[in-house]
Amino acid sequence: MEWCVSLPKVELHAHLNGSIRDSTLLELARVLGEKGVIVFSDVEHVILKNDRSLTEVFKLFDLIHILTTDHTTVKRITQEVIEDFASENVVYLELRTTPKRNDSIGMTKRSYMEAVMEGLRAVSTVDVAFAPHNVDAGSLRESLPINDACDGKRKKIYVRLLLSIDRRESTAAAMETVKLALEMRDLGVIGIDLSGNPVVGEWMTYLPALEFAREHGLYVTLHCGEVPNPKEIQAMLDFIPQRVGHACYFEEDDWKKLKHYNIPVEICLTSNVVTASVSSLDVHHFADLYNAKHPIVLCTDDAGVFSTSLSNEYKVAASAFGLGKREMFQLAKNAIEFTFADDGVKQDLRNIFDLATKKLD
Ligand code: 5GP
Repeated sequence: MEWCVSLPKVELHAHLNGSIRDSTLLELARVLGEKGVIVFSDVEHVILKNDRSLTEVFKLFDLIHILTTDHTTVKRITQEVIEDFASENVVYLELRTTPKRNDSIGMTKRSYMEAVMEGLRAVSTVDVAFAPHNVDAGSLRESLPINDACDGKRKKIYVRLLLSIDRRESTAAAMETVKLALEMRDLGVIGIDLSGNPVVGEWMTYLPALEFAREHGLYVTLHCGEVPNPKEIQAMLDFIPQRVGHACYFEEDDWKKLKHYNIPVEICLTSNVVTASVSSLDVHHFADLYNAKHPIVLCTDDAGVFSTSLSNEYKVAASAFGLGKREMFQLAKNAIEFTFADDGVKQDLRNIFDLATKKLD
């Protein structure tokens, strides 16, 4: 595990509200319990539970959102989540979150995102590079993030944001999110994710907003094939998103199409097994995709909800699929090519991995 921690890593599928520390959730629950908004003893065991079906996961998110959807808390969890990823040598993080309205406290989707940005700026334990257009590329190059747990240097992390559309949302609400993403491009927002309970909603509801996003140069990644829904899977692949997440319930035609379009897959091993989307690691599609040299990237999904970390996902993959250090290193490095980052950032990341290669043995 130690080696998996010190390995530089790229995280491309992490939901903000799924990545919160248990200790923070419990603290927030206690405060709301004291205010009489919730009954603490009822929610404590829900937060600490380890096994969760996909249905239970979405119930838990409803609870988490009650605990976190105010500006101060959104800022806090953003800060903590970034610090946690950086502390395990994640050198590039694409963090996704669903901009939310909460009329009772005057929260708009924009003010929610402003709180996220405040959280980014509040990180003090590591250096965060997040604004692609506003920073002078030269000075950014000079401060190359060399994440090396052993050399005593201050850690640095690149962070980019993806705005999620929740499948419960209308076409108009999805469009509002895409327009907000376009307005926040200079602040590091680079793409759109479609997520939320996969048994809710229809693909056609989100399609206009996703097409609009793509027409305006935003990257798109889709949660695809988390439940058996052959028509939707085919429609999503025909959209040719830049990446898909999960791909658990793919059939032969879906694999063919995925490979034909060479669409990278965000693989979330622990999440897939805990939610029983895949019955066990022995039958996980990671192995087939890896052997076929199809683009894949290991990700956490929800490090808090599934009690995992990116280092742990690397450890799980190494032991389940019999991969050695060098193979895991290459897997981590390959992920650079599937990021939505610009070429300059990709080159910086390649340099980081090249430096780390020397310490492999
Ligand atoms: P947030 O967007 O509020 O920061 O992060 C939590 C949200 O991400 C959830 O409410 C849900 O919409 C989405 N999410 C988190 N994990 C999953 C997952 O495994 N599958 C899907 N489809 N959506 C998820």
